[in-house]
Formats: sequence, C-alpha cells, structure tokens
Amino acid sequence: KLASREFHPDNRVVSVRHIPIGGDAIQVIAGPCSVETPEQMLAAAAGAMTAGASLLRGGAFKPRTSPYSFQGMEEEGLKYLADAARPHGMPVVTELMDPRDIDLFLKYGVDVIQIGTRNMQNFRLLKEVGQLQVPVILKRGLSATIKEWLMAAEYIAAQGNLNIILAERGVRSFEPAYRNMLDVSAIPYLKRETHLPVIVDPSHAGGAAWMVPALSLAAIAAGADGLMIECHPNPAQAWSDGEQALTPQELHALTRQVAAVAQAS
Ligand code: PEP
Ligand code: MN
Repeated sequence: KLASREFHPDNRVVSVRHIPIGGDAIQVIAGPCSVETPEQMLAAAAGAMTAGASLLRGGAFKPRTSPYSFQGMEEEGLKYLADAARPHGMPVVTELMDPRDIDLFLKYGVDVIQIGTRNMQNFRLLKEVGQLQVPVILKRGLSATIKEWLMAAEYIAAQGNLNIILAERGVRSFEPAYRNMLDVSAIPYLKRETHLPVIVDPSHAGGAAWMVPALSLAAIAAGADGLMIECHPNPAQAWSDGEQALTPQELHALTRQVAAVAQAS
C-alpha cells in the first residue's frame, strides 16, 4: 500500500509552499470555522499569525447538518480567505465538497484542500484530488475505522498524489458529554502504520473552547505533527462553531504550551 510504512519507511514531509508538515516542527493551522466577511478574515489572519499559526484555515463551502444553516460564502469566501492570508504570506486551507469546485479552488490559489469528515469516503472526490499535486488534509470519517481511513488515503495516493495529511478530529462514540471522542490512540498507531503526517483537530473533537488546550497538548505529547484549531476574532459572533473557537489571545497562550510540550517529548 502506498500509504504504508512498509512502502516508504521514512516519514513523509508534505511541503505546503515553504512550510514542512511532518518534519521536526509542529505546525499550527488556525482560523475560523467559516469565512464570513473580509474584515473578519483580516482580523482572523492577523490573530492567527501573531498567535504562532503558520497556515490559515476557513471554510467557504460548509457541510452543515441542516440545509437551513449558513452554507458558506462559497466563491466570495475563497477570495476573502486568499486576500486575508496574502499580506502574511500564509498558505490557506479550505474544504472541498464537490469536484466541480476544483477549478475555483485552483483559481484562488488554495494551498491545501481539506476533505471533511462527511466526505472521507466520497470516492469520486478522493480520486479527483488524487489527480492534483495540491496537498490534501484528509479528515477521519465520523465513525471510520483506521483501516477505512487509510484506504481512503489510498484512493488519493493511487491517483498519484502522495501529499496527504491525516487529521484526527474525534469520532462518534457512546459519550454525549462532548462533541466527539478524540482518538488519541490513533496518533501513535498511525505514526507506526503510515509514513503520512498526522495532525489533530481538537476543536471538532471537544466541541468547546475550554477543552481545546487539553486535547491539543495530549495530541502533541502523543506524537501528532500539527494541530488544526478553530480561532475567531469574536467567537460569540461567529456564524458557525463559535462555542469551540478560541480567541487569538487564547490561541497564543496555547501555542506557547504546545511548543513546551513538543520540546519535552
Ligand atoms: C471543519 O473543519 O470546519 C469541519 C466541518 O470539520 P469536520 O469535517 O471534521 O466536521
Ligand atoms: Mn467547524
């Protein structure tokens, strides 16, 4: 299997422009759940940069549970995201839900394509991003086993794109107290089974801002190569996932702790 350690014994470093993911350094991807307005994105980008993040995230096409919820700013959102990141030289990460939007993503210079949880087994979508060389963050499916997740990565790799980053974001469990159960065990397991970089999204796991620091530090201690954290200049006003968003100040405090744990482990 192309994603397995057997095939490629050394850790794969996925380069996103000048930023290595899966190398010695921990990378933090931060930004709001949804791209909302130009002002919001400019503040989000400045806040993420100052807080120590190296990539900017923001969803322009949103996979919402209800069709009546905000669905994303779509093309305009891609533009706000790119415009906000450019002055800081930050690469951008955004979710692709439909292969028909690939040309738009390339037009706005999306640096990393996120395949969301709900599309982990959208095989046509996986094959399409496999035909690009753009790095892909493949999020774990809602209740996907690690084997299913790795086979989804294989769909991308088999088309020729090995620039794949796996993102653990918590799985459905019997426990309703928090949004999803972060599978910390998946981190060392994946680091052993595959050469692909592994990052953790503590925001969609915990579902609450107060839980994000603990989950982030656990992920780094367990060997994750990076974190993807939701951060909003004004969480209370966020159009989606505000309850789990950190403020830029909170993110800054967290990235310092992350660096300390990374140093110690
Ligand atoms: C997101 O990153 O905003 C998102 C929708 O995540 P997930 O696919 O993990 O639910
Ligand atoms: Mn979100």
